[in-house]
Amino acid sequence: MSSSGETELIKLQEVADLPYHWSAGKYGSKFLRSLRDEKKLWGTRCLQCEKVYFPPREVCGPCFAYIDEWVELSTEGTLMAFSVVNFPFIDPELGDKRPVPYTFGYIQLDGCDTAMSHFVNEHDHTKLSGGMRVKAVFKEDGQRVGNMLDILYFEIKEKQ
Ligand SMILES: [Zn+2]
Repeated sequence: MSSSGETELIKLQEVADLPYHWSAGKYGSKFLRSLRDEKKLWGTRCLQCEKVYFPPREVCGPCFAYIDEWVELSTEGTLMAFSVVNFPFIDPELGDKRPVPYTFGYIQLDGCDTAMSHFVNEHDHTKLSGGMRVKAVFKEDGQRVGNMLDILYFEIKEKQ
C-alpha cells in the first residue's frame, strides 16, 4: 500500500510471439487459389435469398441456407466508405507500424451484395468520396501467395 492507502498496481509489459496457422477451409481455399493463380474473384450466391457474398460464404447468414453456387465477380466495384489513417499504430498483419498515411476502403464489388475492406491508393481525403468507382490491382504473377493481400489495393477509376 502507498502512503495514501491506495494499492499500487504494477504494470508488466511483454511481447508474445505466437505464430499460428489455420485452414482456410474448402470455400476459402478455392477462393484463395483462384485469386493467387488466376486473379479471379469468386463469391457465392444463396439460392434462397439471392444474396451474393464476397468473400464467399458456405452458409447464408440471414436464412441459414447452405450455399453451393459460385459466382465470378468483377474486379471493379464501388467505394462505399473510407478512412484515411494518419496515426501510426501496430498493425497485426505487420507486427509493426504501417507507414502513414494509408487509406482503408469499404468496397462492394459489382454483382455482389456485401462489402469488404481493403487498401485504396488515394490518401488525400479531399479526393475521395463514397460512390467512386474502384478497380483491384493485383500483385504480379509469381508474387501472389494466396491471401487477400494478393490484391495490392484498389485504385480509383474516376477522380472528382
Ligand atoms: Zn440466403
